[in-house]
Amino acid sequence: MEKRQEKTAAIVLAAGSGKRMNSNVQKQYLLIYDKPVIYFALKAFEESKVDEVVLVTGKEDIEYCRREIIEKYGFKKVSGLVAGGKERFDSVYEGLKAVPDCDYVLIHDGARPLITPELINENIACVKTTGACVTAVPSKDTVKIADEEGYIRDTPSRSLVWLIQTPQSFQYKIVLEAYQKREEANDNTVTDDAMAVEKYTHRKIRLLMGDYRNIKITTPEDMLLAQAFLREKLKKSEINC
Ligand code: C5P
Repeated sequence: MEKRQEKTAAIVLAAGSGKRMNSNVQKQYLLIYDKPVIYFALKAFEESKVDEVVLVTGKEDIEYCRREIIEKYGFKKVSGLVAGGKERFDSVYEGLKAVPDCDYVLIHDGARPLITPELINENIACVKTTGACVTAVPSKDTVKIADEEGYIRDTPSRSLVWLIQTPQSFQYKIVLEAYQKREEANDNTVTDDAMAVEKYTHRKIRLLMGDYRNIKITTPEDMLLAQAFLREKLKKSEINC
């Protein structure tokens, strides 16, 4: 019998209010070079080897995203738009439920516009051999663990400290199980997908070398950085705006 083609989906997260931006407009819809931040990640996934993309957004933003982003820019891989939840882990769970027939899933913060098709394809290749991998870069700074009073408790060895980015990529059934268990435990401590998989499945997760440019827009100065990095890309004509 002929082997079924394996399917890889991406969940792009664009829900949440992003309070640290101090802006009336949510960070994922702020404009950079006349395009909403979320456009750039969707464009990279469109040009990657991913088979389908589900965009998770605020319930009230679904129509705007359909009309002003998906249809306007002709993103053909976006197969669904689903409403997210209060926390990031709620939004991821909604996204996972929307891609039940995929073998692998890449979860990406829509607030990271510098992601590239190449890094997405590297995630796909890595997850197919490891079952679980996350994009990350070695920390350039020394990291301290603080106590509750704001004093240093510990200093992990810098050579072992990595800063975690997205995509975070998993065999679908592994990450679904992790998020189902998180939901049952009503655990509010989970801040990224790897943490859910670490806590609830004990699977080993491979670190995949990311890109220092692949920043997450969180606070106002991040917009300046993203603009500068995108300008550099535009100059090289790597993106066709
Ligand atoms: O808030 P934070 O910077 O951690 O958000 C990371 C990503 O998760 C962003 O792309 C944001 O749109 C998304 N998110 C979400 N649902 C939430 C909170 C955040 O989709 N409830």
